Amino acid sequence: MSALLPEVSAFLNSSPIKQFIGGEWVAAASGGTLETRDPGDGKVIAKFAAGDARDVDAAVNAAQQAFRKSGWATLPNNDRAVYLHRLADLVDQRREVLAQIESLDVGKPVGQARGDIQNVAASLRYFADLNVNMRRHEPIAVKGFDARSIRVPYGVCGFIFPWNFPLLLVGWGISPALAAGNTVVIKPAEDTPLSTLYFAKLVEEVGIPRGIVNVITGLGETAGAALSRHAGIKRMSFTGSPEVGRLVGEACGKNLVPVKLELGGKGAAVVFDDVDVAATAQALAGAITFNSGQVCCTATRWLVHEKIYDELVDRACKALTSVAIGHEMDAATQMGPVVSEKQRQRVLGYLDRGEKEGAKVVLRGGAANVSGHQAGYYVKPALLGGSPDNVCCREEIFGPTAYLMKFKSEDEAVELVNRSTYGLANSVWSQNLDRANRVAEAMVAGNSWINAHNLFAHGIPYGGCNLSGLGGGVNSPETFLDYLRPQSVVRPL
Ligand code: NAD
Repeated sequence: MSALLPEVSAFLNSSPIKQFIGGEWVAAASGGTLETRDPGDGKVIAKFAAGDARDVDAAVNAAQQAFRKSGWATLPNNDRAVYLHRLADLVDQRREVLAQIESLDVGKPVGQARGDIQNVAASLRYFADLNVNMRRHEPIAVKGFDARSIRVPYGVCGFIFPWNFPLLLVGWGISPALAAGNTVVIKPAEDTPLSTLYFAKLVEEVGIPRGIVNVITGLGETAGAALSRHAGIKRMSFTGSPEVGRLVGEACGKNLVPVKLELGGKGAAVVFDDVDVAATAQALAGAITFNSGQVCCTATRWLVHEKIYDELVDRACKALTSVAIGHEMDAATQMGPVVSEKQRQRVLGYLDRGEKEGAKVVLRGGAANVSGHQAGYYVKPALLGGSPDNVCCREEIFGPTAYLMKFKSEDEAVELVNRSTYGLANSVWSQNLDRANRVAEAMVAGNSWINAHNLFAHGIPYGGCNLSGLGGGVNSPETFLDYLRPQSVVRPL
């Protein structure tokens, strides 16, 4: 087990950790606190403020004041970029501290958490540079008018995040909004607020003016709901489940506030019979064990050509049963626990329901015991197979599981993929690139990957359609423009 860095211990010992509002660290207006646990041991690691509508109101007011008065919105683009680059540098310098905090709060192997933190710094730099290079004034050539289109920041942007990639998603979400000149109010998930709170300390250390970045913590039904319906928000971004996404969308709809929804998925991997079966089985096993399967876009429906089905399944089972399950801070761990006991019960409950509905158990999962960490929320990888109508094939489970189906023809495979009500990400695996490209374009989703799954790079748009989201995605130049309001300025000649 890696020892905790003194900075991490000091941060956890500063519990109950306050919220960051208008550059001040403040307790919840109610005085209440909530607890967050180490999923690897089930023990409470810190308490934090149980914010509610009053705290949200204070944070939105602080962000409004900062938008109007701090000069952030009107700073030359280069100067805003300097702040964001300094913040990225500080995130890099504290990578190990942030990685340990993230690992302990989410239950993700510390090495994977390190990758998440690197990605946060990369997001800040990508959008800072995009901001410097993007034109905000475009002349409009229309006879009889001197006209131009300008782009200006909206004002206060609200962000609500889930627990699976807490700080990575903060990086993806707020970097374009800040680079564009907006101010932000962030509500992290109640299961994993710690890395976002530590990040706020770095915002403070870098000297980003007060009120530009605000963090409120609390339950979804109270703090999250209050943020999504706050009349002071000019733009909203929600990442999480479709069920809550609907509620946030409704609240924003009532205020006529544009909202970006990044929701769940039920990604398919279509595997043709010309692949390297061993390598593909390994890659798919890796896709469902990465972050303990708590990945919105991962490959949870495996459609395998009948000729290689048995071999692929056999190899995948061997790969999955040899994954080292353990505490997230143990360097030997390949797959940590799921985030909470509630999540473990959700995963196990789905597997039971799937079997009762007639799915064949290809690899039995269940709770896993990790020596020395009996109270942790561990689950074994599982594979089910059978009818596409099974609940485990239709609904997002969010654990280390996949649902298997055989296919004979390309058309049949595409039809099975597109039965899903989700539309986040799918992959196709084949050496025949004509076929792979054809299938990639025919699968209905925001993202189609070829011969790989879970591919991300700054500059490549990522988003969903159908139940997986709306309102534009993340990580691309379009994302940056989403945080700038277009306005035309016109004079008759
Ligand atoms: P969730 O929807 O339960 O919670 C997400 C956030 O919403 C949390 O901060 C929560 O406190 C808040 N919330 C809960 N009720 C609320 C309400 N009534 N009003 C406002 N906010 C409320 O999701 P989760 O369980 O934290 O995360 C898992 C889900 O997130 C999965 O469906 C996953 O696929 C999805 N996800 C999607 C993406 C993407 O980019 N598309 C990325 C990561 C996760």
